[in-house]
Amino acid sequence: MLRRTFSVLGGKVLVVAEMHNGNVAPSTLAAVTAGLKVGPVSTLVAGKNAAKTAAALANVKGVECVLVAEGEHYEKGMPEEYAPLIASVVKDGYTHIFAGTSAFGKNVIPRAAAKADAMPITDVTEVKDDATFVRFMYAGNVVCTVKTSDPVKYATIRGTSFERAPTEGGSAEIKEVAATKAGGTSRWIEDAIAATDKPDLQTAVNVIVGGRGLKNAENFKLLNDLAEPLKAAVGATRAVVDAGCCPNEMQIGQTGKTVAPNLYLGCGVSGAIQHVAGMKDSKVIAVINNDADAPFFHVADYGLVEDLFVAVPKLTSMVKK
Ligand SMILES: Cc1cc2nc3c(=O)[nH]c(=O)nc-3n(C[C@H](O)[C@H](O)[C@H](O)COP(=O)(O)OP(=O)(O)OC[C@H]3O[C@@H](n4cnc5c(N)ncnc54)[C@H](O)[C@@H]3O)c2cc1C
Repeated sequence: MLRRTFSVLGGKVLVVAEMHNGNVAPSTLAAVTAGLKVGPVSTLVAGKNAAKTAAALANVKGVECVLVAEGEHYEKGMPEEYAPLIASVVKDGYTHIFAGTSAFGKNVIPRAAAKADAMPITDVTEVKDDATFVRFMYAGNVVCTVKTSDPVKYATIRGTSFERAPTEGGSAEIKEVAATKAGGTSRWIEDAIAATDKPDLQTAVNVIVGGRGLKNAENFKLLNDLAEPLKAAVGATRAVVDAGCCPNEMQIGQTGKTVAPNLYLGCGVSGAIQHVAGMKDSKVIAVINNDADAPFFHVADYGLVEDLFVAVPKLTSMVKK
């Protein structure tokens, strides 16, 4: 029996790919999986030497075709350059334009949708059919099902809600498409990327998060010491980021990153709804807080009411044994 990996809904999906050093971003792999629910999936990669990174995309299981646009002006993923490119390839009959919910996807998709006079659907967590999508509202407290009548549907896909398509086993055709002219209305000036040797927050299997209970930046060493043997990434609440204790990219929550690791351990975090919105899909949630009434205990699978300055070093020495 011939089994198709997509439903016969007649969609034709284009996933706008995000690449990191030649590797396909995890959120793009999730967008491929979401795309396969509505039809065959092509991906689009653009940039300087894009043909090189196209090979990685061609290996992604389920991708039928990789469109490649060469041009230095696409290099930094600027929406002003990507939107006209997307508009030029949509004409080939694509019905769905997806990208991962990342800074890149959130930047590019609404602009491309506006150019097409369509309503972008953001941070999709479930694909019901080719026109019906599920997304959260009000910091994850309301599940909203939206149906769109736009002829071409533009959406960003939440990376933690879909399995990542395997990066091996695909054999997509690679097709060059004509680059659009550089718009030149915006210019990339510089990157300021925090150097870290720790696992990436959004792909780590274990995540340890520090909140205001840690009191200052130096005390994050306690979490780093525990993170090392657990091979965990370290995140933070907005309160801690706003206090200047941690860089922005460590923030988890409604206005930060969404994570869904196997283990989330919150230390000195109260569990405000805006924080929970970014981590509630974690498989196991453990919380250390010295206030038994902290709302986080209602969300946690395991909770320890104790001073974190006592509990965390104890835990570290137990894990190291
Ligand atoms: C529009 C909007 C968007 C927001 N987006 C986000 C977001 O993306 N991410 C986010 O995190 N927040 C976000 N917030 C902020 C959010 O509402 C909370 O203010 C924030 O999450 C609180 O952070 P916290 O848990 O570190 O601090 P607190 O709420 O102050 O909690 C600290 C906790 O530490 C405990 N504690 C203190 N000392 C110890 C100790 N020695 N041992 C153990 N426990 C201790 C306390 O009992 C307390 O429960 C947003 C707010 C708004 C309005």
